[in-house]
Amino acid sequence: MRPFLDLKALMARDEPALNAAFARVLHSGWYVLGPEVEAFEHEFAQLCGVDHVVGVGNGLDALTLILRAYRQLGRLAPGAEVILPGNTFIATALAVSEAGLVPVLVEPQESDFAISVAAVEAAITPRTGAVIAVHLYGRLADMSGLRQVTQCHDLLLIEDSAQAHGARDEHGRVAGSLGDAAGFSFFPVKNLGALGDGGAVATNDGVLAEQVRKLRSYGSSEKYIHDVKGVNSRLDELQAALLRVRLSRLGEDAEQRRAIADRYLQGISNPAITLPSQPSLPLSHVWHLFVVSCAQRHDLQAHLQRRGIPTLIHYPVPIHRQAAYSELSNLSLPVAEGMAAQVLSLPLYPGMPEDYVAAVIDACNDFPPDEIREGPCR
Ligand SMILES: *Cc1c(COP(=O)(O)O)cnc(C)c1O
Repeated sequence: MRPFLDLKALMARDEPALNAAFARVLHSGWYVLGPEVEAFEHEFAQLCGVDHVVGVGNGLDALTLILRAYRQLGRLAPGAEVILPGNTFIATALAVSEAGLVPVLVEPQESDFAISVAAVEAAITPRTGAVIAVHLYGRLADMSGLRQVTQCHDLLLIEDSAQAHGARDEHGRVAGSLGDAAGFSFFPVKNLGALGDGGAVATNDGVLAEQVRKLRSYGSSEKYIHDVKGVNSRLDELQAALLRVRLSRLGEDAEQRRAIADRYLQGISNPAITLPSQPSLPLSHVWHLFVVSCAQRHDLQAHLQRRGIPTLIHYPVPIHRQAAYSELSNLSLPVAEGMAAQVLSLPLYPGMPEDYVAAVIDACNDFPPDEIREGPCR
């Protein structure tokens, strides 16, 4: 079986530079929050086009600390509602709960699985304090549409950019700079992945950045002086040093992802398989995942598996159908539920061998296979 994502090969491309970064940290004698983290924060801020980046322990913490900081700064009331799409990874909702706020799930739009601006507007109540836009699968959400709504209602607009490092809008503005603050994840499988956990907050708001800086380190900006009740969510020097190496490839990697996505979009022509829509602006999608939908998903997945092609489902159970969110179990989100039942992610990664791409296309076009298509029961 081929890999869904060949992380080992991805990392091997940079082995000498990663080893050098490792040796540099090893010999520095300083391992948590230091010069490598500062340098990475600076470099990633430049990439995102923001004034401040704060490295934290992971993507969930990045989002949680943004919300906690806004609460402490008086920008969000305790128990305020935060609107987010129902079809995201559960971390988006967990961050809201962790910060003592109330997640309000809304429908995505069917055309591109992105949070629906109309659904956001319809969900606004006097208690709403913020909206989290998720750039799902690497495609920018409609940030100008969302911005209009949040401005009109005086709400914070936060980006969950965990899947969209480097995605650009029509003005060349980059994910992480399109709202009031953004959370990033550097979990290894993300487009910019560390060799362990990592995350970051990006923002142009210096006051927010300072508050997150305190929060990540026990609520302290001066050693042993604690202004607020913080947490321990620091970025390691080692991960920061490795991320600096990986950062240098981000643009090139996105190009490779786009080229493979184009091959799939051109090559897969099976009426049983609905392809993701091509974004009108190619740079606005960094193809973290290539997600198709299929009414016979189970059969398609089994068929691809028999052809040696692994697939994954992002995500099989919507948040409001998870035991962890039993309080939302009465919610009905038919679009999000339909997606959960039909989506399937095909392999796509930088450096994916051409014959593998071709094999995925062929196998998709051969579905259902002849023996099933012509069988007496179909
Ligand atoms: C990965 C991810 C997160 C969480 O990041 P971690 O680093 O795993 O905590 C949050 N939101 C989305 C959309 C993600 O894909």
